[in-house]
Amino acid sequence: MPGIKIFRMAALRGLGYNNSRGVKDMGQSVLIVNHDIMDKMKAFYIDFLTEKRPPGAVFRATPQDCSITGYRSGKVLFQGKRAEEEAQVWRKWSDDQPARSTKKPVNVEAHDYLPPNNISDLAIVGSDEVGTGDYFGPVVVVAAFVDRNLREKLEHLGIRDSKTLTDAKIKDIAVELSQIVPYSLLTLSNEKYNRLVSKGYTQTKIKAVLHNQALLNVIKKLADRGLAFDGCLVDQFTPPAQYFKAIADRPEKVPSPIYFKTKAESLHYAVASASVIARFAFLKAMDQLSEASGIILPKGAGTGVDQAASELIKVKGESYLSQVAKLHFANTEKAKKRLR
Ligand code: MG
Repeated sequence: MPGIKIFRMAALRGLGYNNSRGVKDMGQSVLIVNHDIMDKMKAFYIDFLTEKRPPGAVFRATPQDCSITGYRSGKVLFQGKRAEEEAQVWRKWSDDQPARSTKKPVNVEAHDYLPPNNISDLAIVGSDEVGTGDYFGPVVVVAAFVDRNLREKLEHLGIRDSKTLTDAKIKDIAVELSQIVPYSLLTLSNEKYNRLVSKGYTQTKIKAVLHNQALLNVIKKLADRGLAFDGCLVDQFTPPAQYFKAIADRPEKVPSPIYFKTKAESLHYAVASASVIARFAFLKAMDQLSEASGIILPKGAGTGVDQAASELIKVKGESYLSQVAKLHFANTEKAKKRLR
């Protein structure tokens, strides 16, 4: 699949931040894409999204030496030195190339780390995270171990991806679950998160480092208990190449095999368990932060969140936000605008 290869190469080169304000050596390329591809592009450039976008734009991202603006009309404008290189990544799926156009969605999941077909029968350390899309509250990453023995114990608990379970059900099963499966829970407070972001950490880097650490913690627990495992499974949040790049400077990495798959909670109880335990910890943290703040902090990053944030600025002062929110989200600016 030559298209995929180009995709990976350009993606890797695009990892650095664009540190010049205006992009010189202006090149320009335009593609027309459908909504599905537009969403995928926005997700792909998540670490490079900027708040400032022109009217009618769905997203604007500034990876190294390039500015990419996607418009509601389906037009995507690439500008800057690397405009053509980034455009090349997506041209294959562009609608203005009818001869080569294909209805197939962009496959960011075609990689060498897909789990084997018998994954559900294997003894797996799985990991998942919660809170990365929520303005308020910490980032929680959990790794959990499940083998065939444990699987039987879990089957009656009704464990699925935490997103499909109600908060009440999560609270119901998480405690029991955490008594059954070996796990590691890492909570990154808002203060620490904001400090890392101000040091230049991307959210992808933060997540990768936490996943790696949680997986390692569980592997150590298994060694202590003399339990064997077949591999690790990460609920995929970035292409594996970017994951490995993000943890390249870590002193310790999990042994292979490590597998990546989106919606991995449906593949293995280890990831499903991690997802439920993480969600439970996040809900508890949100309750505590709400109590400390004196208002109920909403989840997500919608307008209710903007409103709560501006309320907090009014009552507690702007600096308080760093203790309860992810400051680099657009909600911070929106909350401040509300007060003007
Ligand atoms: Mg996940």
